[in-house]
Amino acid sequence: MDTSKNLSQVIRDRMNGDGKRFWAGDNIADYLEEDDKEILIQEATVAFEQVLDTLLIDRENDPNSKGTARRLAKMYYNEIMAGRYVPAPDATAFPNDSTDRYEGMLVVRSELRSMCSHHHQPVSGVAYIGIIAAQKLIGLSKYTRIAQWCARRGTLQEELCNDIAREIMKATDSENVAVYIQAEHGCCTNRGIMAHSSLTQTTVLKGAFKDDSGTKKEFFDNIKLQQEFAPR
Ligand SMILES: [Zn+2]
Repeated sequence: MDTSKNLSQVIRDRMNGDGKRFWAGDNIADYLEEDDKEILIQEATVAFEQVLDTLLIDRENDPNSKGTARRLAKMYYNEIMAGRYVPAPDATAFPNDSTDRYEGMLVVRSELRSMCSHHHQPVSGVAYIGIIAAQKLIGLSKYTRIAQWCARRGTLQEELCNDIAREIMKATDSENVAVYIQAEHGCCTNRGIMAHSSLTQTTVLKGAFKDDSGTKKEFFDNIKLQQEFAPR
């Protein structure tokens, strides 16, 4: 390793060399080794200290700002952007290929917490994941784990909707997947237009959900039923 460079530069060079994209919503777990995260948190702490200094915040004397740079660094790596740095959650699949296999629709409601990649403001909402069961099934909690792994990055809601659909298709081998997200964006409520009740809705429909209006209607009817129990 070139010791004149910090680790984040070394990893960026490696990704650039491979033509690997590392946008805010991309997973880069393949480029990290086990002990890298602690070093990267330390590098990010120094960088956040510089940001606070530039914002003219007295982090030496203000007791509330003393540990803020490190808290921010840890929060980015371990929480709000955690889905970039760890591999996909393990979603063990169970066979669904017997004669009495489940052939119906499954709709799972997953709470989502994300962050917009434009302003790094919180995004909070719910995803409804619809699927027509294929030859294998995954545990119900896995849908939410996968959705949360996609959401814990810098995202755009449109992209997030696509990412969740793609990863669910990958984990289940089903071609028939739909994702509907309803979320409130900190960049609309905390800043900018400061509209406190603004909700954004996005939908991605694949396979039968796109081609068959009955399947699509069943999905949205299910969402309405779920919303009667857990409105938002
Ligand atoms: Zn934003």
